[in-house]
Amino acid sequence: MKLTSYWQDTATPGADHRRTPVPDRVDVAVVGGGLTGTSAAVELRKLGASVAVLEQHTIGWGASGRNGGMATTGLAIGFGTAVKRYGADRAVAMFRTYNDAIDSIEKLVADHAIDCDFARSGKLTLAYRPAHFDAMVKTRKALKDLAGHEVITVPKADLHTELGSDFYHGATVDPLAAGLHVGKFVHGLAKTADALGATICENAEVTTLDRHPGGGHVLQTTRGRVHAGEVLIATSGYTGKVTPWLRRRLIPVGSFIIVTEPLAQDVVDRILPHRRQASDSKNLIYYFRITPDNRLLFGGRARFAMSSPDSDVRSGQILVKAMTELFPYLAGTRIDYTWGGLVDLSMDQLVHAGERDGVHYSVGYSGHGVQMATYMGQRMARFISGDAQANIWGDVGFPPVPGHFGRPWFLPLIGGGARVLDAIS
Ligand SMILES: Cc1cc2nc3c(=O)[nH]c(=O)nc-3n(C[C@H](O)[C@H](O)[C@H](O)COP(=O)(O)OP(=O)(O)OC[C@H]3O[C@@H](n4cnc5c(N)ncnc54)[C@H](O)[C@@H]3O)c2cc1C
Repeated sequence: MKLTSYWQDTATPGADHRRTPVPDRVDVAVVGGGLTGTSAAVELRKLGASVAVLEQHTIGWGASGRNGGMATTGLAIGFGTAVKRYGADRAVAMFRTYNDAIDSIEKLVADHAIDCDFARSGKLTLAYRPAHFDAMVKTRKALKDLAGHEVITVPKADLHTELGSDFYHGATVDPLAAGLHVGKFVHGLAKTADALGATICENAEVTTLDRHPGGGHVLQTTRGRVHAGEVLIATSGYTGKVTPWLRRRLIPVGSFIIVTEPLAQDVVDRILPHRRQASDSKNLIYYFRITPDNRLLFGGRARFAMSSPDSDVRSGQILVKAMTELFPYLAGTRIDYTWGGLVDLSMDQLVHAGERDGVHYSVGYSGHGVQMATYMGQRMARFISGDAQANIWGDVGFPPVPGHFGRPWFLPLIGGGARVLDAIS
């Protein structure tokens, strides 16, 4: 079993940028080489700006190379909660942004011929309790009435047409959602940015970020210093001490994934006959899908813990147990990959993008960043270039997490709370 991401292991990276010199001066420095950073770099080059992507490891090393590869519709908080909190009009606008974000991936893939197995396979949201299915039926009606968006409800009696498991109590299907090979996608974006003239610097950790007295900012990296007119922070769950204001506002939560050996076609057809992107309604969520080469990818916030090799292995064991509880016929199936990564939860589980002390940022994707990070990278590129309307999240307040100043000491408490809620809800 490999303790590495299946997506990274089966993608072909572009040129090796670990020694590409850090430029002296650029219009925009982007910190972070994930989907936010690389999509921003592509758009910034199209807008004519000189740009350097500064990545402390390699392209896609963070969440962008480690996720489930599901570009799904809907908000992390759910449409019903969004309507209650922000009113119907704003909730509809937020909801539609996620659909636009999936379209933006499709367009990037087509425009730049990025070979990444993008497919509109649809999203299956599974009810963990009968009451969760009742809530899904209500949300379906609200989505139709308020947003004109159609999802299909599947009662438990019909669930066998969508899933080879008796574990759940019904589901909804949203046909707009897509799956893709995120490793190929993030490297494809980086290759595109490179071809358009962006400077990509890997192994270039930004260690300090200061305003330059003459204007702009100076970023000190482990491989040299760059003077940038503008800065975009795209560090998601890996946001660190260089931007303490942002770090206080994000909870880095581990999410973990296992991937099986390639499965026989009849087994794949039994698990997910329509190869949809699936997730359930628990607080300690499970999500799963079939990879392009017929493996089952099964993930979850198995434990509220940070990701490390030891943590990934222990989480992987929990996920194997969960997978065989859902699909008993997979008992004994070989697990080829186990890994983990950090999700950047914000307090309200909304995206937060804007400018603070002259530094731009886009973070807080809260587990829904495949589409939204890609979209927001492009939008923030336009925002930085002077389009004030481009940041659709600019009016959302961004409070700090109480008591959070460095390491997230409170994760076990949140995890315990989520487990209790799942048990009693
Ligand atoms: C296990 C897992 C499963 C997920 N599944 C899904 C899914 O199926 N669907 C979905 O929509 N979302 C999913 N997500 C969330 C999604 O992957 C992220 O929201 C998205 O990839 C964030 O992209 P990003 O570019 O903003 O950040 P990242 O990809 O995390 O990139 C941030 C980068 O910043 C770099 N960095 C940090 N500090 C510095 C510094 N000082 N100097 C230089 N570089 C720095 C890091 O090395 C990292 O590469 C999942 C996340 C995880 C962890």
